[in-house]
Amino acid sequence: HTPRFVHARVTPIDDELCLALVNDNTESRAAEQSRREFAVNVSHELKTPIGALSLLAETIEEAYEDPEVVRKFAKKMRKEARRLTKLIQEIIEITRLQSGGSVVDQELLHLDGVVHEAVEAAKVAADAKEIRLVTDLKARPDVYGDRDLLVMALRNLVDNAVQYSDAGTPVTISLDARDGIASVSVIDRGIGIGDKDQERIFERFYRADPARARDTGGTGLGLSIVKHIALQHSGSVAVWSEPGVGSTFTFKLAVHQEAS
Ligand code: ADP
Repeated sequence: HTPRFVHARVTPIDDELCLALVNDNTESRAAEQSRREFAVNVSHELKTPIGALSLLAETIEEAYEDPEVVRKFAKKMRKEARRLTKLIQEIIEITRLQSGGSVVDQELLHLDGVVHEAVEAAKVAADAKEIRLVTDLKARPDVYGDRDLLVMALRNLVDNAVQYSDAGTPVTISLDARDGIASVSVIDRGIGIGDKDQERIFERFYRADPARARDTGGTGLGLSIVKHIALQHSGSVAVWSEPGVGSTFTFKLAVHQEAS
């Protein structure tokens, strides 16, 4: 690619300007590349459930005289449709977050309330697997942030912990604050994540085990949404994990300090 800035008439005195343009250009090219990749991924990801729906409909057409088959495949169609809905909602969410267009609606929040809301939202899925969600409040920090986005981020982490754990194992959600940093850790004793995958799980559409993720309705977008929500709050999200032992995801935010 020829950088666009070469067409600009730049005199030696404009070294700094030139550098700024180069940087700007590199950045916009990277952004452009990333947007293009995203579009390709989105169409690929949408094709899978649409293809599955079409095949299932075909099977029903052929087996219309057998009510058992019709019922079974109609149920599968509903599951695919649910997955497709989730996928589209998450694509809209990640697009909004990435474009920076979702001007974070900042307000002063009690983080324990946000944690409770996220845990409540994940409870139905946890109950279905007899997974106990244990909340461990070591501190009750206040933070500045967008309540809905923070609930979404923490809920994603708890949903994943439930999703990738065996039935009957507990998931702990602990809240702490130290040195001006509030942290929420979601600790599971699930399947864990290998080193290589740990480096990539925050990427859009990346799944450590695509077949398993697909089966459980995973889209591969959850953690990239969590990462973007953390970034929009000048926070961070990190993972510690060991296959066969479990995973801990830690979401960090600055504690709101009372002006004295
Ligand atoms: P998905 O919709 O597939 O769960 P995510 O972006 O939320 O997408 O997660 C990406 C991948 O990271 C998952 O497919 C899974 O392989 C892995 N993963 C995420 N959370 C956990 C966890 N708590 N335990 C084990 N693996 C996990």
